[in-house]
Formats: sequence, C-alpha cells, structure tokens
Amino acid sequence: MTSATVVGSGPNGLAAALTLAAAGVRVTVLEAAERLGGGTRTSEQTLPGLLHDECSAAHPLAVDNAFTRRFDLGAHGLTWKWADVEYAHPLDGGRGAAAYRSVARTAEGLGRDGKAWTAVYGKLEERFGDIAEDFTLPMLRMPTHPIKMARFGGYAAMPTAVMARRWSTDEGRALFAGVAAHALRPFGTPMSAAIGIALGTAAHRYGWPVAEGGSAAITGAMISMLREHGATLETGVEVRSLDELGNPDITILDLDPAGAARIAGDRIPPRVARALRRYRRGPGTFKVEFAVQDGIPWTYEPTRRAGTVHVSGDLAETAVAERMVNRGRMPERPFVLLCQQYLADPTRSQGDVHPIYSYAHVPAGWTGDATAAIEAQIERFAPGFRDRILARNVRTVAQTEAYNANFVGADTITGANDALQMVFRPRPALNPYSLGAPGLFICSAATPPGAGAHGMCGFNAATSALRGLE
Ligand SMILES: Cc1cc2nc3c(=O)[nH]c(=O)nc-3n(C[C@H](O)[C@H](O)[C@H](O)COP(=O)(O)OP(=O)(O)OC[C@H]3O[C@@H](n4cnc5c(N)ncnc54)[C@H](O)[C@@H]3O)c2cc1C
Repeated sequence: MTSATVVGSGPNGLAAALTLAAAGVRVTVLEAAERLGGGTRTSEQTLPGLLHDECSAAHPLAVDNAFTRRFDLGAHGLTWKWADVEYAHPLDGGRGAAAYRSVARTAEGLGRDGKAWTAVYGKLEERFGDIAEDFTLPMLRMPTHPIKMARFGGYAAMPTAVMARRWSTDEGRALFAGVAAHALRPFGTPMSAAIGIALGTAAHRYGWPVAEGGSAAITGAMISMLREHGATLETGVEVRSLDELGNPDITILDLDPAGAARIAGDRIPPRVARALRRYRRGPGTFKVEFAVQDGIPWTYEPTRRAGTVHVSGDLAETAVAERMVNRGRMPERPFVLLCQQYLADPTRSQGDVHPIYSYAHVPAGWTGDATAAIEAQIERFAPGFRDRILARNVRTVAQTEAYNANFVGADTITGANDALQMVFRPRPALNPYSLGAPGLFICSAATPPGAGAHGMCGFNAATSALRGLE
C-alpha cells in the first residue's frame, strides 16, 4: 500500500490528506499545534459560549470548487450560512455601499455607479464557474476557458487605482477599494485589482458564507472523512526534518516556503531551496475579538446586516493605509476588516451578546498595539460602539507568529500578492507543488491558487502526487 505523510493540518494539508486517502493511500497527518485545523480553528475567546473564528471567517471560494464538489463536506457536518449583505463599506456622514449576492441588487444601491458595477461584475458573475475552474489551478498552462479568462485577466491585471476609475461616486469606489484591499497590496501596483475582482465576483455568485458553528466545521468535516478512511492524525508533533518521517512514498508539506526548505534540507535541489527562501512575504495583521452587547450600532443601516464590513473610509484613505503597511509604516487609520458571523449563524452568540471579529492590516513583524486604532475606526462609523464592549481578546503580530509558524510576520495570506507571485508561486515551475525531489510536495496557501480556506492548494498538490505515482 502506498504511504503518505502530510506535515501540517491546515485546510490545505487536510484537503491533500483526504484526496490521497480517498485514492487508497495510507495517510498520516502530523500537526505541531495541540488542535487540528490551522487557520480554520474556532474557540471561545472573550466570554463563555461566544464562538470566535481564530483566522478564516468568510469563505466565498470554498462553496463550489473542484475539491468541495468531489468531497461532500456537508454530509460530515459543514453547513454554509449567509448574512443578508455579503460585505458593506460605511463612509462618513452615515453614507456607505453594500454588496449583495446579486449584481442587480448591488447595482441598485449604487445609484449612478450601478451601471458600471454591472458592466464589470455582471458578465464575470455569469461565467464565474468556468473562470474559477481556471484560476484555482496553476497559471503556467493553457486555460480551459481562454475567452472567459481573457475578460477576467484583463481586469485582474490592472492596478486597483486604475480599475477604481470606472466608478465615479465615493460609494462605488469605496466598495471596490474595500474588496481590493484583501490583496494587501499598494493600489498603484500591477495586478493589485485581481483579488478584488475575484472575491467581488464570488460575492455575487456564491456569497461570502460562514460555517455554522465556526470555521472549524470546515476542517472538522475533512477530519471526519479522513477518520473514515482510516487515516492517522497526530497533534503536538513539530516536524523539524524530513529524516523524522521515515520514508513514506509521498510527503506533502502544508508549510510556508522557507519552512519547507528548512525541513527538507539537502533532500531538495539547491536551486529549489534558494527559490523557496527568496519567497516574499505580505504585510501582517493585528487581531482583536470583541464581545458586544446588542451588536454594533452602525450609522449606515445595511452595515447592520452585513457579514463582512470593510472599515477604512473612502478610496483615498484606504489606498494610503495599504501603501503605508507595505512600506513598513503603521497608518493612524488602518484598514480594518470586521466580521459579524452571528448575523448568518446565531449559534455563535449568547442571547444579545455577540462575537465580533476584527483585524487591522499592519506592517509585517510590527511590534505595536493596534487595539485603540481598530476601536477608533469602528467608533467613527458606529458611535456608541465602545460602550457596548463587554470583553475583548487581542492577538498581536508576535502572538500570531507563535500561533502558527506559517504566518511569518503575521502574514495571513502566506506570501505577498505581487504580480510575479500571483502568477508563479511559490517559485517559477511547471509544477509549483513539486519540491524538485521524487515524492516531495508543498501544498500550503503559498501555492496556487493562494490564501483561503478552500482546500484547492492541497487538492491540486495531492492530485499532482497521485499523477506522479501513475
Ligand atoms: C487573521 C486571519 C484571517 C483570515 N481570514 C480568512 C477568511 O476570512 N477566509 C479565508 O478563506 N481565509 C482567511 N484566512 C486565510 C486562511 O486562514 C489561510 O489561507 C489558510 O488557513 C491556509 O491554509 P493552509 O492549510 O495552507 O495553512 P495553515 O492553515 O496555516 O495550516 C498550517 C498548519 O501547519 C502547522 N505547522 C507549521 N509548521 C509545522 C511543523 N514544522 N510541523 C508540523 N506542523 C506544522 C501549523 O501549526 C498549522 O496548523 C485568514 C487568515 C488569518 C491569519
């Protein structure tokens, strides 16, 4: 029987393990932390009974992809839940904009920018199934749907600042700026619009759902299936060298590239090790969870119904914040990403006390405290917020690094989304999952299609490993 060891139990490690186990491979998963799940763990962090997502919160690209179509996670306890508004962007003066799971409804709320919103997102939304099939695979190949990909690629290649010129109102521009900021890139750089185009289209097609009971349910379903296949899952095992693993036929590392190079040592060619060590990291995040009495009193009403809120002011202000963190400076008014998962999934709350998830974009490795800046940004668009806070839990940059070795400098996206790494990650290679040695692969979010708890990096890496066996 073919044997495989997967190091790391994030959504990609588990997706890789499940893909191998379902193909009849004897699989062992080794995880350094005491709990499985990597960036999908959920816990009580503020008050008893309140469920907080420790990392991933909303999952537009996990609903319908090649991995989740192949494995019925729903049959193993995963239920997606949607808020009425997918993401909202409040502005000063009680104004703002909101994105719904419908291009038409979103456009309706955007007034004179509605037409331009439909022109960009309408056609992409109709074709998104095929487009996503292509962009969730490595880029160095002929796309299966070249014409549909050409439209998507045309927008994705643009700098956010250029793409945003399609809208003329503060509201339209801010709505795009908020979703584009998920790339953590300066708005003037090529391809900085790509994530805003992909996640924005996904919001209209699939929504930005949360997992009932917390994101841990996503990997919980994978773990349940792995156990059915007889896989072995061990926690509290930090792998320092491949020599500790014996000689499995397949080894898949759910690790950041530098970590993979360190553990692989001289088992991989020097040129591969060099490329992995040169992999560029993105900025960091500073996370604060709140327990809030009666929810947040947002002035712009649709924000009270939104699963995700981009709290960063208008396009110009958001652009400054993203530029500064990329230059290693902390803005006074950072980009704050806030989630109100309880609106879609009331099981997260205790009566009228609700868990609120937030983080600010900060420079990589930053040593400061962003708690006050995050609270000030929220209070600005929701006066009275501070008075409703019953408890908070802070995770600094250093604590995030200690929490998960893959989040170097608290880089939540496992690698900078610069143009080169958007196309070639973690290194330029026809098979980006191969580590250049027989049976040895990397499957973390540093590989295509990148960050997110969608499982596609792991699925692609395991598929490539199985192909190697053939
Ligand atoms: C604050 C934050 C917010 C996020 N929000 C979202 C979101 O809303 N939606 C979304 O889709 N994604 C989100 N993400 C990103 C998402 O969580 C990651 O992209 C995803 O978890 C990556 O999965 P992975 O399997 O590649 O790695 P990880 O989830 O990072 O898992 C890697 C695992 O490997 C283990 N490990 C590391 N080194 C070793 C070793 N030497 N030996 C053994 N085990 C080891 C780690 O402990 C960890 O469990 C967020 C991330 C963060 C940090």
